[in-house]
Amino acid sequence: MTNAIRIDGKEKAAEMSEQITADTAELLEQHGLQPGLAVVIIGEDPASQVYVRNKKKRADSVQHTLDAKTSQQEVLDLIDELNSDDRIHGILVQLPLPDHLDEQVVTQAVSPGKDVDGFHFVNIGKLTSGNTADAFVPCTPAGCMLMIEDHLGSDLSGLDAVVVGRSNIVGKPMASLLIKANATVTVCHSRTRDLPDVVRRADIVVAAVGRANMVTGDWIKPGAVVIDVGINRIETTVDGETKSKLTGDVDYESACEVAKAVTPVPGGVGPMTITMLMANTLRAARLSAGLRD
Ligand code: NDP
Repeated sequence: MTNAIRIDGKEKAAEMSEQITADTAELLEQHGLQPGLAVVIIGEDPASQVYVRNKKKRADSVQHTLDAKTSQQEVLDLIDELNSDDRIHGILVQLPLPDHLDEQVVTQAVSPGKDVDGFHFVNIGKLTSGNTADAFVPCTPAGCMLMIEDHLGSDLSGLDAVVVGRSNIVGKPMASLLIKANATVTVCHSRTRDLPDVVRRADIVVAAVGRANMVTGDWIKPGAVVIDVGINRIETTVDGETKSKLTGDVDYESACEVAKAVTPVPGGVGPMTITMLMANTLRAARLSAGLRD
């Protein structure tokens, strides 16, 4: 018996996409500005190709596909070119990069004003210090935050939030956003002791681990809002046939028995991430013209 609300990320993302399309048309009409996204892909990591294909569907984007053996200098030269191209407002370098490239050097080469992934130290610093007016926030935590706000409002005063995972892409920026919204935040990781007990205290759980169905219903405080960032491919057997399917870090069925609301996988955080990229690109174009939110 499941009671929780299924947080429909696909539906929310579709609504947001409509708004982004309308705002984009207005920007073009009133300021002659068409938001442009440059996607840089180096090598052929199949997972990133699929992700980029999905992202591209929603964007007015230019794709630069470079050979896996491209030198770091060539990548930096391309980023330089894109940094000074007025038609490009957002630059996304698809990660992971081939081993011979230095991820930090490459991501820090993107101009902070075009850093729609929010990975530049300038944007990380702005987010961490709570100055988000002209900062770019990484897309996945930004999307998670909007879904949390839908269920708990924008002021999370008095609420305990537990983020499981401390990556720079998800866990840490998620924690910064929750702190900014006045939640009391605990960040857990592989060295955390008694993880289920820590999670049980949380009114808001964000799981960004990469371990299929790790967070089960008995870890969840009754009435909590649970955001499942994880994307894991697992093998299941249906009628004697082995199939692979996507699953999150949260055991959806058992979590739904106790939580107030849970994001499904697929159809939860994933679609929001892609839409937030479009939102950040539009925002970058607006900021380039001196327009604030
Ligand atoms: P990382 O691998 O960078 O980070 C995983 C984090 O989980 C680390 O902090 C790690 O701890 C922690 N962790 C690992 N095992 C355990 C454990 N047993 N108990 C507690 N903590 C643990 O992953 P990402 O943050 O990049 O991604 C997390 C998940 O989210 C992945 O499944 C990824 O595919 C998915 N994802 C989904 C997106 C979407 O749009 N829906 C976007 C981005 C990611 P430690 O630091 O100690 O190693």
